[in-house]
Amino acid sequence: MKISPNAIEHGVKLLADPLRNKGTAFTEVERDALGLRGLLPPHIHTQDEQMSRFLEHMRKLPDALEKFVALSALHDRNEALFFRVVCDHVDEIMPLIYTPTVGLACQRFGHIFQRPRGMFISINDRGRIADILRNWPRKAGIIVVTDGERILGLGDQGANGMGIPVGKLSLYTACAGIDPAICLPITLDMGTNNEGLLADPYYVGLRRRRVTGSAYDELVDEFITAAREVFPDVIIQFEDFANHNAFRLLEKYRNKICTFNDDIQGTAAVALAGVLSALRVKGTTLSDEKFLFLGAGEAATGIADLIVAAMEAQGIATEEARQHCWLVDSKGLVVKSREGLAAQKQPYAHDHAGVADFLSAVNTLKPTAIIGVAAVGGTFTPEVLRAMADINARPIVFALSNPTSKAECTAEEAYVGTDGRALFACGSPFAPVPFQGKTLVPRQGNNAYIFPGVGLGAIACGATRITDEMFLAAAQTLADYVTPADLDQGALLPPLTNIREVSAHIAVAVAEVAFERGLASRSRPENMLELVKAHVYDPHYPAYI
Ligand code: NAD
Repeated sequence: MKISPNAIEHGVKLLADPLRNKGTAFTEVERDALGLRGLLPPHIHTQDEQMSRFLEHMRKLPDALEKFVALSALHDRNEALFFRVVCDHVDEIMPLIYTPTVGLACQRFGHIFQRPRGMFISINDRGRIADILRNWPRKAGIIVVTDGERILGLGDQGANGMGIPVGKLSLYTACAGIDPAICLPITLDMGTNNEGLLADPYYVGLRRRRVTGSAYDELVDEFITAAREVFPDVIIQFEDFANHNAFRLLEKYRNKICTFNDDIQGTAAVALAGVLSALRVKGTTLSDEKFLFLGAGEAATGIADLIVAAMEAQGIATEEARQHCWLVDSKGLVVKSREGLAAQKQPYAHDHAGVADFLSAVNTLKPTAIIGVAAVGGTFTPEVLRAMADINARPIVFALSNPTSKAECTAEEAYVGTDGRALFACGSPFAPVPFQGKTLVPRQGNNAYIFPGVGLGAIACGATRITDEMFLAAAQTLADYVTPADLDQGALLPPLTNIREVSAHIAVAVAEVAFERGLASRSRPENMLELVKAHVYDPHYPAYI
């Protein structure tokens, strides 16, 4: 990026603009031309040196939350350096800017607050949302929006939920190279029912209980209309809405605008990729498996729906495919005779006697795979794991609930509880586990493998819709990146270190589907990968002069 010195009124403004600031890395020529002389100490550091300085400081901080605060401050003053730090140390930094640390950061949001990022729109803003969005200084290409009602597995965090859209958009840039200048995090403050927050003097949101019903729907509708009016091609990603709204909103908007819900669809794709890897180890196909989910919410039914879609793509009838997926919710096994089941659970309510608890469901149904997405910690007990090991030579065990305190079991518990035979993936990061002379590597079923590439593909081709077929293509692409060496050490997903390459190929797969289905607004390029790469942001500093 070359910018004219005339475009900058004074060097101080440049230093205060996180999208352009380079701090002590401004060159001699830039310092003279851009009015920076004297505003910086004389020695010029390279970006690599700045990165080492930051990491040295950050690594000495006593805990993850302090590190989160330091990273946020860096993000606020120098985005390129922040993204160099994240991209070059993705394994170390991702758990600090996203799960599990971001959960704690949301709970403490008001207490660690330094400066706002993104936009807050509240229920008091009815009738003026388009005007508010015009306060944003740039054109937004992708919005991540939450109403804070179901933050990770931590429940209602109200306006403090802003940590999630901010973190998620950082991952869009870090993992796929989406330009941070087009990213807009938004929190819809609909109130909160979290009594602790309502009583907290430092809480950043409205002091009122959540609005529901038509007042809620009208605000969301005005927001969607306004966002499309102010930023016509914007992609809107719904994030961490409670499931009574998440499914409704997805159904309402998915065929009208370019939108998706990562909790439902992104989770589904990463879990399916893990399942496809497990099948390679077992030498089976999807129709040989029986999946039992603990939880019947966004993640569970999203994953089940995509498993069904994958089976349909293999020529299996929908009804037959659904028979391979079973759900256990807080009231026990989801069966046909249960009344008042939410719409998303009904396809999986099979003709079967009721079963009250998860262990009994395992013993009764004899699943080949258990997938934990109920956000209740410790529910894959030693008895559950033992039962799975007795039923299966290689039980598939995915403990996907977040944050770590909500995980159904740890990696070590999964391996020890199944004599090292579990094909395991987790929602929170766990360290490799030494087991009987081998080191087993549990990889995180992190949505960050999927949504950044989906977003990049959608941006590159100007997608008008984001479909389940695109998520299926993303899952298959991700699974293709798992090597025999990964499988040999028990890893069902690729390492995060080559995530940008994976994301670029997911973007290609998504764009291919868009072009094939007439859902792309650009003309088809000769080389899809080149098109995708042309949209990738490089966090190395540009020369301004
Ligand atoms: P959700 O609120 O939509 O669903 C939770 C479900 O769990 C509900 O169906 C509820 O009935 C059920 N449940 C609650 N208590 C239960 C109990 N004691 N026994 C059985 N079922 C119970 O939430 P969600 O979006 O589906 O997310 C669930 C969890 O999965 C969260 O911890 C979330 O962080 C995690 N998650 C992980 C990933 C990932 O690892 N990639 C992705 C998405 C969600």
